[in-house]
Amino acid sequence: AADLALAAAKESGRNSVSFFDPQMQLQVSRRSALETAMRRALQDGLFTLHFQPQVDSQGCLIGMEALLRWHDEQLGTVGPDEFIPVAESSALIVPLGAWVITEACRILSSWRDHPQLAQISLSVNISPRQFHHPDFVPHVTHQLKAFAINAHQLELEVTESLFIDDIDNTISLMNELINSGVMFALDDFGTGYASLSYLKKLPISRLKIDQSFVRDLLDDPNDEAIVRTIIALGNSLELQVIAEGVETPAQLSRLQEMGCRFYQGYCFGKPMPDSHWLLMLRDSQTVLSPMSTV
Ligand code: C2E
Ligand code: MG
Ligand code: MG
Ligand code: MG
Repeated sequence: AADLALAAAKESGRNSVSFFDPQMQLQVSRRSALETAMRRALQDGLFTLHFQPQVDSQGCLIGMEALLRWHDEQLGTVGPDEFIPVAESSALIVPLGAWVITEACRILSSWRDHPQLAQISLSVNISPRQFHHPDFVPHVTHQLKAFAINAHQLELEVTESLFIDDIDNTISLMNELINSGVMFALDDFGTGYASLSYLKKLPISRLKIDQSFVRDLLDDPNDEAIVRTIIALGNSLELQVIAEGVETPAQLSRLQEMGCRFYQGYCFGKPMPDSHWLLMLRDSQTVLSPMSTV
């Protein structure tokens, strides 16, 4: 079929071979199917949040990361790595992201009645397009008030892509939220365009080491060197460093040796609905031992 399309493209005398690329047309129709279904799912309340534990060196729960989940009747379960980029390119990320903030605040307020979760922070991922929408800062501050949240318990995870342009305006928007108590983490650190000179300008309190460096930490000396450097950098800038994607006790103990004090990954638990964690942590002193929850 690809050959036919190519022939057709050549015959018509166009240069735009890709216009006839059936693979590409499939992608385009998948995208628009996702977009339509997502819009409906948002209206019908079909998105949910799952929560993944973040722990310290003692295995004490310090926070949870909220991660979007979506199951569509026709399309099946679609992961955020697929639907978030579609939402971002269609502006749907604005209402979807607003829903995530509201839902995260609602859940945080419900954790007040559960001593094992009452003090922890909740991290929420924020897309650049969502962040720069004029309603973003007012929406966050309004939801914090509406649910009477201690703003220190809300952490917003942003990536280096947020700082590609208009860094000064971005920082002043961040500072508005920081003044009301909200914290910021730099997610997927090491995969973007971070320049060390601007890292020190950013009002963030946490660096998240991208999971791609943690994956082969034990076998790949380059990854080990990168992780070591990020930990040293974080320590000298007085940032908390948290390793993402910690899957095994061996990775955990290497990270511990290297001076990393906070961790997130399947080793401590996969993202699960909040009801799972309420049950799981019912009798515990907020301690999660590695592997006990996998
Ligand atoms: P992220 O923010 O870097 O989140 C971490 C991702 O790694 C999650 O994938 C999580 O399930 C996965 N993960 C955690 N521990 C492990 C591990 O030990 N091993 C492996 N292999 N993976 C692990 P998920 O839930 O599929 O989310 C993917 C990405 O989608 C997120 O990456 C984030 O960039 C985006 N995302 C998810 N929810 C939201 C949201 O509410 N808003 C926005 N803007 N983006 C979101
Ligand atoms: Mg994240
Ligand atoms: Mg990440
Ligand atoms: Mg990511």
